[in-house]
Amino acid sequence: MRINIQLQCTECKRKNYATEKNKKNTTGRLEVKKYCPFDRKHTVHRETK
Ligand SMILES: [Zn+2]
Repeated sequence: MRINIQLQCTECKRKNYATEKNKKNTTGRLEVKKYCPFDRKHTVHRETK
């Protein structure tokens, strides 16, 4: 089962990316390093609803 999530920058708290995840494969909160255009660098983005 796939659910849609948004990825929020942990530094500026903006939601920069939308993606989906498989609930069976992904346990806990998703964390990815992505480019934040507002911070103009790569930051950790965390799953949010
Ligand atoms: Zn940011």
